This record gives sequence, C-alpha cells and structure tokens, in this order.
Amino acid sequence: MTNLAAVLHGPGKLEIRDVGTPDAVPGGISIEMMLSGVCGSDVHLYEGQAGALPISVILGHEGVGRIATLGAGVSTDYAGQTVSVGDLVYWAPIALCGACYTCTVLEQTPCEKSSFFEDAEKPNWGTFQERIWLPARQPFYKLLDGTDPVALAAMGCALPTALKAFDQVRPVRPGETVVIQGAGPVGLATAMMASVSGASNVVVLDSVAAKLEVARTMGATATLDLSMTTAEERRAAIYELAGPTGPTVVVEATGALPAFVEGSDLTGVNGTYVVLGLLGDVGRTDVHPGDISWRNKSIGGATFPKIKHYYYAVQLARKLQDRFPLADLVSHRFKIADTEAALRAVGSGETVKAVIDATL
Ligand SMILES: [Zn+2]
Ligand SMILES: [Zn+2]
Repeated sequence: MTNLAAVLHGPGKLEIRDVGTPDAVPGGISIEMMLSGVCGSDVHLYEGQAGALPISVILGHEGVGRIATLGAGVSTDYAGQTVSVGDLVYWAPIALCGACYTCTVLEQTPCEKSSFFEDAEKPNWGTFQERIWLPARQPFYKLLDGTDPVALAAMGCALPTALKAFDQVRPVRPGETVVIQGAGPVGLATAMMASVSGASNVVVLDSVAAKLEVARTMGATATLDLSMTTAEERRAAIYELAGPTGPTVVVEATGALPAFVEGSDLTGVNGTYVVLGLLGDVGRTDVHPGDISWRNKSIGGATFPKIKHYYYAVQLARKLQDRFPLADLVSHRFKIADTEAALRAVGSGETVKAVIDATL
C-alpha cells in the first residue's frame, strides 16, 4: 500500500512521494485522509515566512478522515464514543505533552513540549498525505451521525479559532454589534458564531465583493467593501448601525497590518478588539493608549485552539450545516499531487476554502 504525501524540504521545495504507511501504535490510530483544508498558515510555512523548519515535514493540519487502524487499547474517541475502523473522525493537530506547566496549570495550547509537526521520515499527522498517524494521547473525535464531512472540512481550523476567541477573549452577547475585518475562513466562522450568539448586527469588511456575498450567507447582516469605501465612510456606517458609542466587538481576521489601526479605532466604548489574523512576525503599528483607557477598550488576541474547541467544532458542524451553507464554502479541490497549486491558490486569495481531496 502506498502513501502519497506532499513533503516540504524547505521554503518553496515541495516533493510528492510515497512515504510509506505506518501502523498504529498502542493508544494511537491511523487515519485514511478524506479532505484536508489548506490553511493560510500552510502557505506561510511553504513560502518560508514562518522561518525555515529544521526538518522536512508534511504540511496540513486540518482534516476529516476515516479510521484505518486502531492501536491496541483504543476502543473509544476522546469523548468516550465507541469507535471502529471506517468511522469518520476529526482531530486536534497539536500534540500536547499533558505534563508541563502550560498543560497542567495554565490549561493552554500550545505547551512547552508541543509538537506541531513530526519529521516527514517518521510517522506523522501532516494532512497532505493519504494516510496519517496519530500518536497515543493525541485527541480525536468521531463525527456525529449525519455530519457532512465537507461541511466540517470547510470549517478547518477556522471554527476552532473563532471558538477559542469567543471563549478566551470575550463572548458575544445578545444584541451586540460585531464587526469582522476579513471574509476568509476565520472571518466567516466568526460571523456564523456571532450570528448564532445573538448579535443584532454582524458587519463584515473585505475588499472582494464575491467574498462579501458569501459572508451574507454566513450570518453577516451588513457588508462593507474596502475597495468602494473610505475608512471614514465605514466608520460612519458602522456607528449608524451600532449606536453612538460604537461596536462592542471588532474582530481582526485579515492578517493585514493596516487592518489593526482601523479595527482598534473602530472599536467602541467598552468594546473589545479581538486580534486573530495578525499572527507572529507581522511588524509594528500605531496604537493609541489614551483612547484605550479613555474609552474603556480592551485588545485581546487568540490563536491555537484548545482541544475542546475541536470537539465543539465537531458538534457545531452537525448542528449548523443545515442553517449555513458550510459545504458550499469549499470553492477549490486539489489532488495531493497538486498541493503546490493548492498553496498558490490560497496564497493568491482567490479561494473561499481550498481542500486537498485525498480520494481524487
Ligand atoms: Zn489552519
Ligand atoms: Zn505540555
């Protein structure tokens, strides 16, 4: 049996080859990949923007697949549901040690000893391959009956990220106005969660009209096209909807540095600016500390969903797939052999959600 994989040797150096099929270890499982989401962070790693990795890796950290083999001792998923070979599952992609300060005291992700990747030469859980392998103690969850695997794959790590943001930084309260900068997967998942949380207004900003159309199907009640409006016009439109003191939640989901100045400025009195897309080494920009204190504003960031957010994503995909057109968000499908084209498509911004379909 072959296991075709997209192996990244260094920035821009991707090789498609058979890496062999590992057996499940005691306590672990192996999974036949079905769909793997291509994430903006995969593009950053491919382009070397996150620094060169010290090892060759198989990219991809989002996906849905079927259990291929169960290691000794595994009879349930990590929520206690009985599992068998062939069951559809979803998993948390960061392996935590469970025995360090961050794991046991802070209860946070990632921890001091977490691994995001394993060497491509060893069994690993990079999803751009036909068959992945989860070590013992790496949580996975069975999909609920009736879940469309495409719907869950479309949400990728975007829904867990939105869930962590609203869990850790601040929840959305009924009646609030939520402004979301960016209609990529994280922005869309955030719009959906703001909508189901009871926000009165969910305003999404983007420069691509087609993506704003999609945002309307995902809970946005109003959209503003960055290419057709000035920052002053957007502010006026948003304050008109939110009321005189402005929106109480503004979410940055663009990854574009100029968004920060506009987003922190848009955030209203007693409001919170939630930074999700500007991740890592993105540069510095202006902040107005006097405005933050004078108007009782907060700024919070969130990334790296906790394990429970992946569990809740599995539950919510089933509950929400009929209310929101989740499966339709998958705009591009690629074979494993075309991983490079998939990464380029996501990098260019032309996709709503691209997936690698291991069954093609
Ligand atoms: Zn991701
Ligand atoms: Zn740990």
